[in-house]
Amino acid sequence: MSENHEYDLVVIGAGSGGVRLARMSAGYGARVAVIESRYLGGTCVNVGCVPKKLFVYGSHLPEEIEDAAGYGWEVQEGAVSFDWSTLVRNKNTEISRLNGIYEKLLQGAGVDIIEGTATIDDPHTVSVGDRRLRARHIAVATGSWPCVPEIPGAQFVKTSNEMFFLDRLPKHAIVWGGGYIAVEFAGILNGLGVKTTLVYRGELFLRGFDQDVRTFVAEELGKKGIELCFGRNINSVAESDEGFRVTLDNGDTLDTGLVLAATGRKPLLDGLGLDSLGVELNEDGSLKVDEQFRTSVPSIVALGDVIGTPQLTPVAIRQGMVLSRNLFDGGQDRMDYEAIPTAVFCQPNIGTVGLTEDEARERYGVLRIYRTSFRPMKYTLSGRDERTLMKLVVDDASDRVVGAHMVGPDAGEIIQGIAVAIKAGATKAVFDSTIGIHPTSAEEFVTMRQPVDA
Ligand code: NDP
Repeated sequence: MSENHEYDLVVIGAGSGGVRLARMSAGYGARVAVIESRYLGGTCVNVGCVPKKLFVYGSHLPEEIEDAAGYGWEVQEGAVSFDWSTLVRNKNTEISRLNGIYEKLLQGAGVDIIEGTATIDDPHTVSVGDRRLRARHIAVATGSWPCVPEIPGAQFVKTSNEMFFLDRLPKHAIVWGGGYIAVEFAGILNGLGVKTTLVYRGELFLRGFDQDVRTFVAEELGKKGIELCFGRNINSVAESDEGFRVTLDNGDTLDTGLVLAATGRKPLLDGLGLDSLGVELNEDGSLKVDEQFRTSVPSIVALGDVIGTPQLTPVAIRQGMVLSRNLFDGGQDRMDYEAIPTAVFCQPNIGTVGLTEDEARERYGVLRIYRTSFRPMKYTLSGRDERTLMKLVVDDASDRVVGAHMVGPDAGEIIQGIAVAIKAGATKAVFDSTIGIHPTSAEEFVTMRQPVDA
C-alpha cells in the first residue's frame, strides 16, 4: 500500500455487506475502518430480516394455540392475551444483543469503527466530521431505504422502518404494495389481530414469482382473512377521525388506523458526494459497477443494495466475501447470480430457487412440470384449512431440475437444501433416486413421479 494512505480500505456502511467486507479484508491483513451513522448490522439486523422474522414467529402463535385444540389441549376462553409492547421490547433487547455481537466481531478482526456520516471528498479521501481518512480503496455499502410514492398525504404513511417501533397496533391497517415486505407485514398484522387490507396496483401480487405460487399465496392469505384489493392503487391519504382516510384510484375510500407503504427500496446514496466525483449511475439510480465491484472511479467500489443486484442479505454477504478476496488475497472471483434461493415469510411461507415455469419455458422450450398440493399432516387433527404447494420445473431435454417452488410451513428451510441440488445441476432422475424422509412435507420433492398434463 502507498505510504500516504492511513487505511487500505474504508467501508461506508456497517450493514451485512459492509461488515463482511471489512472483517474479511482485515483478516487478510488489510488496515480497515468502517463508518456507520445509524446502527451496526444495517437494515437486516435492525429494521429488516431479523426483527421481521421475530414478528412473524409472534404473529403465527395464535394459530398454534388454535391448532392445539385438535390435539387435546384446552385453552380457556379469555385465557390468552397479547401485549404488543412486550413483543417490541423483547425484540429490541435481542437486536441490541446482535448490535453488540457485530461490534465485537469488527473489533476482534481489528477493524476501526467510526461513528458518523461519511462524505467522499476525492477518490482516496473520506471525511467524517472533522476527520479526514486517506484510503487506498473506498467501499460504498450504504444499503437502501424505503421509497414512498409521492401522493398527497405521503407524510402520514409508515414504512417498514417505523413498523418495528409502533407505539400500538391499529384495529385496521392498509398495506400498500405487492412485494416481499407487503405480504410479510400483511401476515404479521393479520396474525396479531389487525384487520388487514392489502392494496396492490397489478392484477396479482408477487410479480416475478412463479404464477402458481402467486395464485396459491393469494388463496391462502385470503383464507386467513387478509382482504386482497388487486388492480387498485392509492391516490391519497388524509387524516380522519378514525386515523386516516385512504382514497383509491377508483374513488373508493377506506378508513384505517395505519397505512404501510411497502412499495420498494431505493439505493441510499444521498450526501455521499458521489455526483461531484462523476460516479456513474444505472437508470434505476443504483451505482454502476463492473464485475470487480469498481465504480467508474476505480478506487471506489460498491456492494449490496446500492448496486442494483438482488436486495438480499446473503447476496451482499457473498459480494463482501468475493470483493475482499479479490482486493486483498489475490482472488479473481466473480459473483454468480444464477439460482439464488429466496424465502418470503408470508404465512404460509414461500421458498423458491431457480427459474419460474414461464422463465424456464422461454429459456429451454419443452419442460416437464411436477406439482402437488396437499394439507400438511399437522393440520389433519387441528382441521386447519391451509394447504401446501410444491412444484418442480424440469428441462425436458437435459432432465435438469431448473426451478423448485414451495408454499407452506418452513418452505425456506426446505428450499435451502434443494438449492444445493439445483446449483449442482441435479437431474430429475437424481431427485427420483433420492430417498425421502418420512413423514415430512419435504419428501414430496423426491416423490413426485407424474408430470402435470402428461
Ligand atoms: P418489492 O420490489 O419486492 O415490491 C414493491 C412493490 O411495490 C411491488 O408490488 C410494486 O408493484 C409496488 N410498487 C412500486 N412502486 C409503486 C407505486 N408507485 N405505486 C404502487 N405500487 C408500487 O419491494 P419491497 O419494498 O417489498 O422490498 C424491497 C426488497 O427488499 C425486496 O425486493 C427484497 O429484495 C428485499 N426483501 C427481502 C425479504 C426476504 O428475503 N424475505 C423481505 C423483505 C424485503 P409492481 O409489482 O407492480 O412493480
